[in-house]
Amino acid sequence: MTDGDASAEFLPAGEARETVRTALIKWYEADHRAYPWRETDDAYPILVSEIMSQQTQLDRVVDAWGDFLDRWPTVEDLAAASRGDVVSFWSSHSLGYNNRAKYLHEAATQVLEEYDGEFPETPAELQELMGVGPYTANAVASFAFNNGDAVVDTNVKRVLYRAFDVPDDDSAFEGVASDLMPSDRSRVWNNAIMELGGVACGKTPNCDTAGCPWRQWCHAYETGDFTAPDVPTQPSFEGSRRQFRGRVIEALGEYDELTLDELGPRIRVDYAPEGTHGRAWLRGLLADLSDDGLVEIADQEDETTVRLQT
Ligand code: SF4
Repeated sequence: MTDGDASAEFLPAGEARETVRTALIKWYEADHRAYPWRETDDAYPILVSEIMSQQTQLDRVVDAWGDFLDRWPTVEDLAAASRGDVVSFWSSHSLGYNNRAKYLHEAATQVLEEYDGEFPETPAELQELMGVGPYTANAVASFAFNNGDAVVDTNVKRVLYRAFDVPDDDSAFEGVASDLMPSDRSRVWNNAIMELGGVACGKTPNCDTAGCPWRQWCHAYETGDFTAPDVPTQPSFEGSRRQFRGRVIEALGEYDELTLDELGPRIRVDYAPEGTHGRAWLRGLLADLSDDGLVEIADQEDETTVRLQT
């Protein structure tokens, strides 16, 4: 994708946009939840995982998915199965509406009969399969064929809204999501941005504990306003003053004393001495802690040092 004009007001431009992309992919590749369907690029098991996870929590899907593939390891095996067996497997694993099982069986038959046993590779063609809607088609195209569009689900909207101040508007979300996705990398990108929304930028965000790779660009992290389209009121704690006070105490507990500029980056990754969250902001926080008798501030000639009150 090129850096489209539509996103220019939200996303960093040029090389900085590339840095934003790389940061997320690196974060995802360094550590992510290990679902077994993420280890394959075979469309059949990926489709099974997507259909199952439409109604069931991912952690519960893992066992059902493994059992399903033990029983019907290939799309040919599934097409040859009796529909009744597939439906009863579905019920016995509490996978929700049995129609999904019927559709999955029907889709397997279609792959054999209409596509010679080879899954189609584009989102548009995948949508021709029974029970496969736009979201699932795009997920399979991305994860199996690295050939999808940018996913825009509730998690992704929350991330884009918070990080880049994208308005709550579907076409704005779609434009930005699409311009942000590096071209030809839908497999890793869609996994990574969904992981970010699931692990770091949930309704109650865990920016620091999850090591969010976008903190330095994130509008919500900068302003402390973590509301989002699906989070109408400010979630508690993360970004709040109470949290930063806790971090100051924790950091000072590890040192005899620190200067403002030594302490600042230990409190916020986006600390910049003259920035919004710089010395003036830190002094305000420290003044409160000093009033509460928790820290001592020593203003010397050319610098200020801080220590825990003894
Ligand atoms: S810094 Fe926090 S709010 Fe911003 S994108 Fe990361 S997890 Fe979400």
